[in-house]
Amino acid sequence: MNTGFYFDERCLWHTTGEHVIVAPVGGYLQPPSGAGHAENPETKRRLKNLVEVSGLGDQLSWRKAQPLSRAEMERIHTPAYLDLFKRLSDCTGGNAGHYSPFGHGSFEIAALSAGLVKQAVSDVWHREVNNAYVVSRPPGHHCLPDASMGFCLLANIPLALEALRAEVGPVRAAVVDWDVHHGNGTEACFYDRDDTLTISLHQENCFPADKGGAADRGRGRGEGFNLNIPLLPGGGHQAYLDAFAMLVEPALRAFQPQIIVVASGLDANAFDPLARMQALVGTYREMSRRIKGVAGELCGGRLLAAHEGGYSEGYVPFCGLAVIEEFAGHRTPVQDPFEEILRSQQPTADFVAFQRARLGQQAANLGFRPGA
Ligand code: ZN
Repeated sequence: MNTGFYFDERCLWHTTGEHVIVAPVGGYLQPPSGAGHAENPETKRRLKNLVEVSGLGDQLSWRKAQPLSRAEMERIHTPAYLDLFKRLSDCTGGNAGHYSPFGHGSFEIAALSAGLVKQAVSDVWHREVNNAYVVSRPPGHHCLPDASMGFCLLANIPLALEALRAEVGPVRAAVVDWDVHHGNGTEACFYDRDDTLTISLHQENCFPADKGGAADRGRGRGEGFNLNIPLLPGGGHQAYLDAFAMLVEPALRAFQPQIIVVASGLDANAFDPLARMQALVGTYREMSRRIKGVAGELCGGRLLAAHEGGYSEGYVPFCGLAVIEEFAGHRTPVQDPFEEILRSQQPTADFVAFQRARLGQQAANLGFRPGA
């Protein structure tokens, strides 16, 4: 049994229209010469290609999946949203929410993207694979039950967990979202629930700007089952390791999940055009090592990651490779080509201490003991 790698070329054929970064072309905004919109196929295609040429692909179990059905989508999404999305997709595309443009046929591709995550969750649960990584698009963690948002057209991870529950009954699941943006969609899907612990590490006040505060802990039965960890811009490698040690790991141990799903955005990397967090390959390697360790300790190793954001074509593939290497327990000869320069640009000791004190205060408020 080895690590499952879930990929389908059709996910890369989803289009996001003619934009520069996130703004539509027009007026004084010159049409792009290259990929244009930040959420384009190239980061994911290059990650899949690096998995192959590095030799890591030979160690993985390559898997595909069926698209999600409409009935499965309705476990999370409103019929009105799905009708609008499908109608626009059947024509020339459009936007069924906020910052989430798509082209003709994206409804079916989104169903496939969500289907890949669903299959990975099922295979990890049933121990068809040891753990799993899903490279699919469109991503999911901003998508709300009744609207698309932030390039996300279906709530991939919530849909996958609800499919698992429909099959096997109640499951205590934890979602650890290390995408640099707040996992507001996943939070919204489970905000009233005590069977899903949602944890989001994100750059404070980035996207969505008004979401992701540490005080947002859930509602009703869900009170205490949502954990937001806002990090200061520029926090770098150490901010993530401190957040893991002081908040993520204690929260997981308190919750005792039966499966852990990582919303694996790789846009905290130092080259990303949509954030300013200064993380590097080694950051993702260390977070992956730790989450795998916690999954081994708490839930028999049941762990998967579903790809979310990440917009630096040149660097995302190396970050993603490190995650999959750690999950698979296999190191390739590939080294981080940018490590020397990025190590030299990490925040100063006084910044690290300030960020650590903030995290320590949040941990103390939650009753987590340092080093416990
Ligand atoms: Zn993101």
